[in-house]
Amino acid sequence: MKKVEQLGTESSWKRTLRASSVQEETKECLDRLNEAFRMYMLQFSLAADTKLTKLVNAMQVMTLSSNSTIPVDRTEPDEIRRIPAENITFVDETSCQRMRGCTIRFGNARMIDWTGHQRAVIVKRFQAMDTCEDRARDAFDAEIELRRDLLHASFARMLGISIASRRTKMIVIEAGAISAYHYLQTLSGLEHFLEHARIMCEFVAGYRFLGEHGGSWRGGYQDVLLSAQDKRLCIGGLGRMDGRCEDSGWRVNEAFNRLRDGDDWIAGGSWSLEENADEFERLRKSATKWNEEKTAENARDLFDWLGWWSGSNEIERGTETPPTVGEIGWRDGKNWNPIPLVHHFPLAQPLQYQINAFRWREGDWETIVGTQIEGFTRWSIDASPGEEIYLGTYVRSYRTNKIFDFFYGSALSLAKDFGVDVASLRLVYRTGFDVYACLTISNEQFSAVYYFACPPTPDGTVPDPPGFWSRCPYPLCSDCRLHADAAQVGFEVVPVIEYQKINDRLLSLVQDLDAHDFLPIPDISYASDPSFATISEVSDQQAPDPIITPRGKKRHAKDLFSIFSKRRKVSNS
Ligand SMILES: [Zn+2]
Repeated sequence: MKKVEQLGTESSWKRTLRASSVQEETKECLDRLNEAFRMYMLQFSLAADTKLTKLVNAMQVMTLSSNSTIPVDRTEPDEIRRIPAENITFVDETSCQRMRGCTIRFGNARMIDWTGHQRAVIVKRFQAMDTCEDRARDAFDAEIELRRDLLHASFARMLGISIASRRTKMIVIEAGAISAYHYLQTLSGLEHFLEHARIMCEFVAGYRFLGEHGGSWRGGYQDVLLSAQDKRLCIGGLGRMDGRCEDSGWRVNEAFNRLRDGDDWIAGGSWSLEENADEFERLRKSATKWNEEKTAENARDLFDWLGWWSGSNEIERGTETPPTVGEIGWRDGKNWNPIPLVHHFPLAQPLQYQINAFRWREGDWETIVGTQIEGFTRWSIDASPGEEIYLGTYVRSYRTNKIFDFFYGSALSLAKDFGVDVASLRLVYRTGFDVYACLTISNEQFSAVYYFACPPTPDGTVPDPPGFWSRCPYPLCSDCRLHADAAQVGFEVVPVIEYQKINDRLLSLVQDLDAHDFLPIPDISYASDPSFATISEVSDQQAPDPIITPRGKKRHAKDLFSIFSKRRKVSNS
């Protein structure tokens, strides 16, 4: 600063100096001015920063002490943070689930946290139909009690609750996660299977942990979330959390199927959590081993697990003349084009009831596992007076493992022989009937009713009526049967066919096995000599693009099938 003043006072005599020296003086003066300004700014910002830090710290202490009031009683749990509804901005609603007396809505939202920052959260809103409805309150209370205990890496943390009104209560859950399904879609072939298996093993750990706290989880394929950073499973953000830990077995199986197929079919099997856990571990091992070393043994192991990965079945209901189980062919529109194959092993297992049925409860189908008793299949159902019970039971004939192996082993060859795309090939995976039974309970008081499914007849149909209801667990006791009058009992029988296809990811696995010469290609014998029928036609046309199938070829194959259909049926049995 001094220099500036000097410049002014000394300027009268310095004017006589040479021009260059004046320039030097000016430059030096400017430099010093600049330096002084920088020093000033630095000292100012340091001071400001110290002051601001003090202020922020003080505010943190203040908010912490006002937010988390530690209860006086040492045994009392911490209070759950109340988040004012006005601090929550709703972005969109992702799902809505209607239960009796209450609607549960999930949505993405932004919350203003104590530092004043916006934070992405998931909001689960419990909306009661009316304010004196107990169900909504119970569901809400039970869920927050359960969530307080979920201090585990696999679970999304509850940040607090918000009571918007007497009707609407909300649970605020941390967000910042990505959809597991969409993540898996970005992976191809083996990498996809490895990650899917890894996620399922983490799922098991999550269910085990939930089980220790008396809880369970169920959700759709889009409800399975991973942490955005390390792709760790992070369940509980979406979906339903409840106290049915005995259901964790079929629920983890359902989660596997839903994540694989990208749909929300009801799909739980009858295995326990630990049985499923075992399978997931082995599944993961088989994929890992093949990934590490391409040996014949590892190839065989991987091939044995293909059944688990082949989902995305196509289901067709109400078909009058269904194809038989174990047939291989392709579909164009509604037409089924079977490939006339001759097999020397059984293709189908006998028609029987699946042990797991589905019960309509609180707006959702849930698995219930039955038992076999004296030739009947029995399901036990808890019931309350005046309740309507809906039960979906399934009669199915499954393909055998042999025809499944044949399908995967031969698919590349079959597609080539018939000039069709491998992805268009189908195996008739199972056929049968969906049998829906419904019962309206009278006002009589009893805690449980039993549904008995009569065994299917040998000619492959379902008896009429397909089953009966009883008040006692013994099918042969006729005294306790609930007699069917039209108003009380209803049945519906719908024929079903399920086709299995080879999706892109499985195809890459099959091609990988083939490339290493480890694909178990079976002997394929067509029901006629293919050299004059199909093969010659393929070589005639030599279509450069095997996906394009000339119409004539398909018709040809179909004619072949109709000619040899009798022989084919014999060879099936
Ligand atoms: Zn009885």
